[in-house]
Amino acid sequence: MTESSPVRTTRPRQVRPRAEGWTQRVDAEGKPLLQFTAPKRGMPPVHLADLTPEQRVEKVKELGLPGFRAKQVEKHYFQHYTSDAAAMTDLPASGREELVAGLLPRLLTEVRRLETDRGDTIKFLWRLHDGALVESVLMRYPGRITLCVSSQAGCGMNCPFCATGQAGLTRNMSAAEIVEQVVRANAAIRAGELGPAEHADERVTNIVFMGMGEPLANYNRVMQAVRTMVDKDHGLGMSARGVTVSTVGLVPAINKLAAEDIPVTFALSLHAPDDHLRDEMIPINSRWKVDEALDAARGYFEKTGRRVSIEYALIKDMNDHAWRADLLATKLNERGRGWVHVNPIPLNPTPGSVWTASDKDVQREFVRRLNEAGIPTTLRDTRGKEIDGACGQLVATEEDRAVAASAAG
Ligand code: SAH
Repeated sequence: MTESSPVRTTRPRQVRPRAEGWTQRVDAEGKPLLQFTAPKRGMPPVHLADLTPEQRVEKVKELGLPGFRAKQVEKHYFQHYTSDAAAMTDLPASGREELVAGLLPRLLTEVRRLETDRGDTIKFLWRLHDGALVESVLMRYPGRITLCVSSQAGCGMNCPFCATGQAGLTRNMSAAEIVEQVVRANAAIRAGELGPAEHADERVTNIVFMGMGEPLANYNRVMQAVRTMVDKDHGLGMSARGVTVSTVGLVPAINKLAAEDIPVTFALSLHAPDDHLRDEMIPINSRWKVDEALDAARGYFEKTGRRVSIEYALIKDMNDHAWRADLLATKLNERGRGWVHVNPIPLNPTPGSVWTASDKDVQREFVRRLNEAGIPTTLRDTRGKEIDGACGQLVATEEDRAVAASAAG
């Protein structure tokens, strides 16, 4: 079309993603830095939840007691949510302290807790044994309780719109550090700290790996944590479908996850249907493109029969264009029907960023177009914004560090 063309189209505004108000780290070629490996040093002592049931028995024997004691310690930890030797009166007094110290070393120290006014959302700030800070967010909904857990201290994926990525990756969390977030949340629920209970014996029913970190970049430890969450005899006995693993799209790891026999719910953080934009929004897209990530997500559905979610943070004038909703619908429909749903979520503000959530009417139109194309799409409710506990807002602030330092002193 030439300048003099009689057909006038108004070009939708397009803002480009780039870090605003902070400096995105780059690699030697000037591309956004991707960090896959973190220093091994700093990993915490081995804990019961890092071990398989067989290894736990061995460990108990090493600590000088008969193997069947492992089962008792499991019960205290996974059912009573306690790591306190004094509470474990069914264990022989002699050797009890040593056994518990050897199996249940302290992993998370609560530094600070923020709650919403209604008391139905709690954000926990935890200090790990080496001083690293991570967060989890506990949310009560009618009929379910969801915990958003962290899988890494920091994150190496460097997405410019996510606060966690700004500081880079500190280290992977151990399986037990991940599980301990759930155990501590359950202890808080049991103590009545998450508002009025709906029924006795409440606990976390749903886990989302949407806190700090890229879970599939810490694959083995995350899987050990998931196995412990779902193990009925030697773990928390949760349902696998209640566990959601969310990823930026590490394709080989998605394929590996599909081959595990644990049908967790799978979520792909897509945020753009075109490589042109996604290359800039999600630096890992330089490695695995939109189509490859979508093929892997489709493969997950085929292997597990579990409908997958596509996450899409709606950012004003960046990725919220009607044509992008249509392109997304086309790409999903090309891969079949009934295998996927889309969860758009209005962007949550992060420090330093000038971007905002899409306007309400734009959000509605985006959702409408997808639904009309036959893709079930629901705008996600975002909890915890006022306590910086919402998606993409989890980052240890200077204030958090100051509280942690004074508490440690
Ligand atoms: N690394 C994983 C899990 C952590 S983030 C992943 O990327 O999927 C969990 C979800 O929150 C992801 O979909 C992520 O893209 C989204 N998110 C990140 N920053 C956000 C923000 N500022 N507003 C809304 N959602 C955000």
